[in-house]
Amino acid sequence: MSTKEQHRIKNAKRRAERIAAGEHIKPQRHTRETLIETLARRSIRDANGCLLWTGYVDKRTGYGVIGIARQLTKVHRAAWELANGPIPKGMSVCHHCDVRNCIEPTHLWLGTYADNNRDMFAKGRHRSMGGWNKGIPHSTVTKAKIAAKATGRLHQPHTAEAREKMSQARAAWWKRRKEKEAQWLKQP
Ligand SMILES: [Zn+2]
Repeated sequence: MSTKEQHRIKNAKRRAERIAAGEHIKPQRHTRETLIETLARRSIRDANGCLLWTGYVDKRTGYGVIGIARQLTKVHRAAWELANGPIPKGMSVCHHCDVRNCIEPTHLWLGTYADNNRDMFAKGRHRSMGGWNKGIPHSTVTKAKIAAKATGRLHQPHTAEAREKMSQARAAWWKRRKEKEAQWLKQP
């Protein structure tokens, strides 16, 4: 987050405090919406107390995304910064509630990358990225094919009927080839 953005947040917070204290403040004109205002406008509270981001969510990761100072940022990280100040370098903002597009500051905690992974495994959120067809969204390999491979159905020997058909096709090919050869030999 840029220092400019931090100043805007600080000012917005001060304004919010003054409004809360009952002071009449003229609405800001010709200024862009502050981050606090955007987060408030684009989120809804659900029954579990989560503040769900209704803006853009990255389909791949499930995290809410927002453009701040011309940079795409994860919203929950921005929300944590709003409440607690800048995120120390290399730290992750994790969810107590496991709802990735939740931006409720009390549901967020600061951890290392390892903390987050440990938490993820402990809660069973992880998914294996290894193995064939994992992480390939547009693969033609279907679940049925994987199941068939697992049970060995793709590797069954050909039926007698199929063998007969292939044998006939092979014979026909040889016949055509011999005919062509004969024609070629007949040429003067
Ligand atoms: Zn939450």
